[in-house]
Amino acid sequence: LMARGRPVLGERKQCLGAVVTIVDITNMKVLDRLKSEFVAKVSHELRSPLSTIHEQLALVINDLMGQLSESEEHLLSRAKEKTQGLISTIGDLLDLSRIESGSTQQEPKPVQLEELLGNIVDFLGTRAKNKNQKLALEAPDEPLPTIKADPLALESIFGNLITNAINYTQEGGAVTVQVDTTGIHLRVRVADNGFGIEERYLDKIFDRFFRVKNDKTRFITGTGLGLPIVKGLVEALKGRISVESEPDKGTTFTVLLPVD
Ligand code: ADP
Repeated sequence: LMARGRPVLGERKQCLGAVVTIVDITNMKVLDRLKSEFVAKVSHELRSPLSTIHEQLALVINDLMGQLSESEEHLLSRAKEKTQGLISTIGDLLDLSRIESGSTQQEPKPVQLEELLGNIVDFLGTRAKNKNQKLALEAPDEPLPTIKADPLALESIFGNLITNAINYTQEGGAVTVQVDTTGIHLRVRVADNGFGIEERYLDKIFDRFFRVKNDKTRFITGTGLGLPIVKGLVEALKGRISVESEPDKGTTFTVLLPVD
């Protein structure tokens, strides 16, 4: 059952009472589960033939190296890139349906978040450097408490957020990752001074396949599955995610995760 309520206000905005609606959502839940299972099954079925096509294209390109005209080589390479894109979209879809159905196999262990973030920042450093961007990690001097979580889930959450910050920020911009603690939570902020997001899209960006399309983002490739995955993983860890943004000023994602 799902309950929704709203206050009933009088002329002087005084509270007169409340209207509560209780809806039986059993059928919606069943449909949702069937949809998730269907997506998982289709994705699974598509992944292996696509991987074969990708491997075979790579072999053909390798074997015929030097014998192909420039345009033939270009066409085959494009086909290989597109198949790779499809394979990663399908991987994301599978991840998302596993997260939504609660069937991800999490292996929680105590994690030093600062160290994990340091590794991601090092790994993505080249990508930022290629765009002449500054990418930095800021942490307090005193050691932070550990959290208990699957390191792979944390890598996926922060890898996605930092990659987005780099992708949706102009050349020469800056991306800062800050970590600190509120006592009960570890707080990570991923802030950029990039393109920003219009307010009307802020609650949509966590929907699957949603992408903001404007002159600046048009040529950036993506699937619109990154943030739904991030949100699902954060919630599975009993954490929270929020976003603040201003067009042409930048965006900050804040993630709160309960300490161990
Ligand atoms: P993708 O990056 O594959 O498009 P995501 O789900 O990760 O998918 O993000 C959804 C959309 O949210 C992006 O297409 C982009 O429009 C917007 N977005 C995400 N992160 C940022 C950011 N740091 N700055 C500006 N826009 C962002």
